[in-house]
Amino acid sequence: MKMDPGIVCFQHCGPKIFCLSLPESCPACRSDLSKADFSLLPFRVPYPFVRASQHSCSVIIKPTTGDFLHDYYNSMDLHIGVTTSSGTIVEFDRNGLRRHRNSQWDQCLLLDAATSSWTEHWDEVLMKVCKQPRWLAKNYDEDTMNCYSFVLTFLRCLSYGSLSAAAANRTDFCEKFIVPRATAAGKYISLYRKLKEKGFHVHRTK
Ligand SMILES: [Zn+2]
Repeated sequence: MKMDPGIVCFQHCGPKIFCLSLPESCPACRSDLSKADFSLLPFRVPYPFVRASQHSCSVIIKPTTGDFLHDYYNSMDLHIGVTTSSGTIVEFDRNGLRRHRNSQWDQCLLLDAATSSWTEHWDEVLMKVCKQPRWLAKNYDEDTMNCYSFVLTFLRCLSYGSLSAAAANRTDFCEKFIVPRATAAGKYISLYRKLKEKGFHVHRTK
């Protein structure tokens, strides 16, 4: 499955132009691009999302339903999980605790990942936290006992630098780890939606 829509950016006569494929003529000045001098050669805009199963010992977020490019509106709708050293996804929701590698996490944002020297400790602590009897479907509560409760409990037990320090407080964690990444992804998403609608976007700074 190809997920990256391949947004291209270039500059010809002034403004930055974004598109899904290079047009024949410049959307800003209408001149033929086949013999054009670009002031900024076309390059691929980096795709911000990752496939969770390809990232071990990571903290990841995705929209609660659907995917980022099509269904995401704001950071309130985000669901959080972690991966093991082998890339198995572990998440807690109304169905209880689940471990799997399914494709629902093929378009997510990576909040942070542990370095390789932490791998063993990461799996050990994760296993211990998963064994706690409280992660049962019947204990799930949308506000007080949800996916964040599980991930933040794990991160606190892990004692992994600034990530675990921020996990002491849900608001701190959101401000430091979620908001910046969700904001950057939001820009990519709104650009993608404009391109889907109009084919190109001319970014004028004034
Ligand atoms: Zn032009």
